[in-house]
Amino acid sequence: MDLKKLALSLIPDSDLLNPEEYEDVFPPRVLEKGAEVTRLAPSPTGFIHLGNLYSALADERCAHTTGGVFYLRIEDTDEKRKVEGAVESVIRSLNYFGIKFDEGAEIESPLNKYGPYYQRQRAKIYRAFVKKLIEEGLAYPCFCSAEELDEVRAKQTENKQTTGYYGAYAKCRKLSEDEIYKNLKAGKPFVIRLKSQGSIENKFTFRDAIKGDITVTENDQDVVILKSDGIPTYHFAHAIDDHFMRTTLVIRGEEWLSSLPVHLELHKVLGFKPPRYAHTSSLMKMDGGTKRKLSKRKDPELSLDYYRKAGYEPRAVVKYLMTVLNSNFEEWSLKNPDADYRDFKFKIDKMGKSGALFDLEKLCDVSKTEISKLSAEECYGFLNGWVQEFGTEKDKAHFNDKDYIIKILTLIMGVGGKKRRKDIERAEQGVRMIDYFFDDTFAPEYNYRFGKETVNVVLENFAKVYDPSDDNSVWFAKLKGVAPLVGFAAETSEYKANPEKFKGNVSDAAEILRIAITGSPNSPDLCTIMGILGKTRSLARLNSAKL
Ligand code: GLU
Repeated sequence: MDLKKLALSLIPDSDLLNPEEYEDVFPPRVLEKGAEVTRLAPSPTGFIHLGNLYSALADERCAHTTGGVFYLRIEDTDEKRKVEGAVESVIRSLNYFGIKFDEGAEIESPLNKYGPYYQRQRAKIYRAFVKKLIEEGLAYPCFCSAEELDEVRAKQTENKQTTGYYGAYAKCRKLSEDEIYKNLKAGKPFVIRLKSQGSIENKFTFRDAIKGDITVTENDQDVVILKSDGIPTYHFAHAIDDHFMRTTLVIRGEEWLSSLPVHLELHKVLGFKPPRYAHTSSLMKMDGGTKRKLSKRKDPELSLDYYRKAGYEPRAVVKYLMTVLNSNFEEWSLKNPDADYRDFKFKIDKMGKSGALFDLEKLCDVSKTEISKLSAEECYGFLNGWVQEFGTEKDKAHFNDKDYIIKILTLIMGVGGKKRRKDIERAEQGVRMIDYFFDDTFAPEYNYRFGKETVNVVLENFAKVYDPSDDNSVWFAKLKGVAPLVGFAAETSEYKANPEKFKGNVSDAAEILRIAITGSPNSPDLCTIMGILGKTRSLARLNSAKL
């Protein structure tokens, strides 16, 4: 068969470079020895999930701890799955978690020398290589219709055989030159398939950077490399891209392990040295007593948007994922509680070989700790970020008054004090917690433990003497002055010695005030709260809280 002529009839493009020329177009990168070039290569489906972040974090760490490059490639060979805005969403979501690409799709960078980074824009490169493989007799046209392929599959299933296009089932592999040209002349649509050189009789061992040595069976499937619309399949495109984008380490989910024999065969027939592969174990969760994979359908926490919407501290999510990624991270983090996680020496070979357990409760604990470490200014930035995206109009208006909020946060979060508040795990909780500082969201329930007479006397009399310039001790002394008016002990010691002599204690008077001012019997220091609210608002609250 005249393969040159066949290649030209199947790929008639006149503007293709010689495949070897691409070696000069995309020269090897000039990087330090040991520098890793990693990539995130999502399809633009719009769903970016925890597994992507998990992989991206490993990619980013491997690249940036070795002086390498981390880039974003968009695998958009399947036009049907494409969702508008998906690429921006990947970048924005990862940015939220502090993960940035050095180059790639939609990334402004002087490093962008290996693009385009959208596969559909690289059609020419792929076609040049398809043509080469046809010339070499390593690829051929297949004219089988979808119906014919369905029939074959049904037969294989019935015979309990592996499904696919291989061996005796690879009908078009045996077409004569005449038959091929007859089909072409008749205008029959065709795809190009790899003429696999492998055999399932042969096994080989390859070293995965995470899982170690894995023995797999050679590929014998004549997989499609170029679809009938002239666009390559993911398998083919990604092998060419990883080679010409000079990827050194492919980190991806273990669901891709089964495709590895195909990928390695593609690299081989293309004459490329394959990158190293690292297949990450799937994220699992405990469900009842059993471990199962996180599922898109059952587990909202699989979506990255879930964390942004709920307002988890992004660093906490990343830190928690680091503990899942590298078993020795937690210990390091306990020893270095204030260190940046980037100072940890991340090692790909320390990643778990199987089922990485993801525990949302543990993540919440990490989030609480991270939030408790924020300065008032950082806390404002964190909460405000959430408010601007997910808060109500009232929240947005409240957060315009930064000075006021900073005062509140300083008090509420215990900033600068000995005991930092450690029960806030999400931005939304933090935002709701300060609602009572604003009249339009102050919704008190006046659940006093005392009757009308007692409550009103305490509120009226404290209002008479309240002065916002009083410090804590003067403020409390004034409350002690009010307590006896309702039969409460002014001193706790007196009350403890003879509780039957009193209707209550000064602490009960404080509780009445607290409920009046904050709507709840529990709050941080009341004197400070009244100081932040200011005299007018405090007195108005004491007045409207009367029964
Ligand atoms: N485009 C593939 C995906 O959507 C990437 C697989 C790979 O990393 O090689 O997951």
